[in-house]
Amino acid sequence: MALLINDDCTDCDACVESCPNKAITAGTPYVIDPALCTECVGAHDEPQCRLVCPADCIVDHPDFRESKEQLMAKYHSIHG
Ligand code: SF4
Repeated sequence: MALLINDDCTDCDACVESCPNKAITAGTPYVIDPALCTECVGAHDEPQCRLVCPADCIVDHPDFRESKEQLMAKYHSIHG
């Protein structure tokens, strides 16, 4: 399952550098590419963007539900 940044985003830019997959791009609100988000599986124990977000605006993406195994496979396909 990928994560999604909702409209509570204040465009503070705190999350961009936290992402191990470079999945986050600036915008209003900021955008997480679901093709790149592994919910940090493969890199960290928990989603790093959620940890650093001061607006608490990063939620589960309703359209991208994947198992831990699928997320790990995605991580390896991104990082080769
Ligand atoms: Fe990037 Fe992890 Fe946030 Fe997904 S959960 S966008 S991989 S920092």
